[in-house]
Amino acid sequence: TDPAIIRNFCIIAHIDHGKSTLADRMLQITGVVDERAARAQYLDRMDIERERGITIKSQAVRMPWTVAADNEQGAEPGTYVLNMIDTPGHVDFTYEVSRSLQACEAAVLLVDAAQGIEAQTLANLYLAMGADLHIIPVLNKIDLPSANVEKYALELANLVGCEVEDVLLTSAKTGLGVEALLNEIVRTTPAPVGDPDAPPRALIFDSVYDTYRGVVTYVRVVDGKLSHRDRIKMMSTGAVHEMLEVGVISPEPVKAGDLGVGEVGYLITGVKDVRQSRVGDTVTSQHNGADEPLGGYEHPNPMVYAGLYPIDGDDYPTLRDALEKLQLNDAALAYEPETSGALGFGFRCGFLGLLHMEITRERLEREFNLELISTAPNVVYHVTLDDGSRIEVTNPSEYPDSKIREVLEPVVTATILSPADYIGTIMELCQTKRGTLLGMDYLSEDRVEMRYTLPMGEIAFDFFDNLKSKTKGYASLNYEFAGEQAGDLVKVDILLQGEPVDAFSAIVHKDAAYSYGVMLAGKLRELIPRQQFEVPIQAAIGSRVIARETIRAIRKDVLAKCYGGDITRKRKLLEKQKEGKKRMKMVGRVEVPQEAFIAALSTT
Ligand code: GDP
Ligand code: MG
Repeated sequence: TDPAIIRNFCIIAHIDHGKSTLADRMLQITGVVDERAARAQYLDRMDIERERGITIKSQAVRMPWTVAADNEQGAEPGTYVLNMIDTPGHVDFTYEVSRSLQACEAAVLLVDAAQGIEAQTLANLYLAMGADLHIIPVLNKIDLPSANVEKYALELANLVGCEVEDVLLTSAKTGLGVEALLNEIVRTTPAPVGDPDAPPRALIFDSVYDTYRGVVTYVRVVDGKLSHRDRIKMMSTGAVHEMLEVGVISPEPVKAGDLGVGEVGYLITGVKDVRQSRVGDTVTSQHNGADEPLGGYEHPNPMVYAGLYPIDGDDYPTLRDALEKLQLNDAALAYEPETSGALGFGFRCGFLGLLHMEITRERLEREFNLELISTAPNVVYHVTLDDGSRIEVTNPSEYPDSKIREVLEPVVTATILSPADYIGTIMELCQTKRGTLLGMDYLSEDRVEMRYTLPMGEIAFDFFDNLKSKTKGYASLNYEFAGEQAGDLVKVDILLQGEPVDAFSAIVHKDAAYSYGVMLAGKLRELIPRQQFEVPIQAAIGSRVIARETIRAIRKDVLAKCYGGDITRKRKLLEKQKEGKKRMKMVGRVEVPQEAFIAALSTT
């Protein structure tokens, strides 16, 4: 294909602003998917994605588009090849977003006409500008009765620095304005530029494991040509693979002989594991290959860790196999076996962020029929001991009790967008989370952008939910990793009958340790049923006890209550107790119900 007629673009938006719907409408209008076959959200292939309305895995679709002779946008008439690259929309996948952007020349910046600019609108826009993309501002959902087109078109124009007339208006739902948008993409997006005679270089912006075909790798060719006859080389590792197939997606895979400058498509090798075909890596040919990779490859590092344990110990092998399978499709998922005194055999898993963790857990439960307990998520700490040695702590129970010289914890730069009414509330919240205000800007009269540095560990739990509920859902949040800082942190252990329960250990700031200990001990007293003996619950920092609760002995009382009463009630009670037992974990001699773990570990 002649690069002059290729237009590579992506759609970027805050979640729910209509990206997937617009993509579907474009597929339909260009005739790639016919109306009858068009199932909602064609591009969001995974069930979980569809249910949660998020896009996890980017996809690229090739669409032919003919610009009519008399089009109002003034685009050069003719037939073009549009490659639409779908980017994942969530903060956990920022790296993948940035790779998808690298594969494009333009970004359609989509904003909901009833909501206006949100935190991820900004975050994505900054990423797109960082990748030097041409920005096409679009106000979507103009069919909504609650749309405020005038106000938000102006906000959007101010943001990208264009005239308000240059903001395109669409309804992805009805299709209004979408043809005009396609013409505008043709008119304003630069055609790809590359050296057709140079050794091939292609950027990997996605790779997906397919049960039948192995790993399918999505690439954007920058220079030269990738042919189905080539043997290819991954430049970060030097690994060489046989090429089995190259092609384009439109919307199903279609084989092609080769992919040239500016083209976007897929390739299939014999590879069975996405870790051998890494997002961000450069593909070249084995013979006469390129010397310099395309810039920007990064290895994804887990930011959040949690222990995952099967509720039924017999499921351990199933869990191990399931993690192995998921990793085939998820280069960012890390795991290793772990044993917990309280929870038995399980795995310590590393994730890019909380959403990544939730999705993984949900897939394990749903696709592999597993029932799991997960420990509270924690971030990674770097501890320097008194003797100068350094250790990395990914599990709170392994945090040293003493001889610590310094602890480094990860921090993020958070951007919060909110109606100005909530400034005070947000400041208060961020203060309790040890945040430092970096700056504040008004985007319009009544909307403000606040930037904070926050310890990642403080926002790993319930920060987002908290922010949402304190601002009646109006605030939006985006964050990115911003290095490490020294922190005054301690480990709080929870002891049942004097025995520490590793699953409840947490690393918290010194000033929060006491209230954390009191809170968790109190919660456990409520959650753990009475036993036949007294059970003391203690919260401790090292050997120092900071909180104490006691669960008094019972059992006799349960039956005593029924003394002389009717026998069916008594039997029912006993049965109920037996039921409950099935879902108990023994911690030492203490029976702890699953619910206690789940409730104690969920929101802290
Ligand atoms: P995404 O998260 O950006 O991919 O957003 P979706 O495409 O999943 O859309 C979120 C919701 O907005 C869905 O319920 C869509 O049906 C709805 N939606 C998207 N575009 C429009 C539009 O132009 N008008 C109206 N009324 N609803 C829309
Ligand atoms: Mg979507």
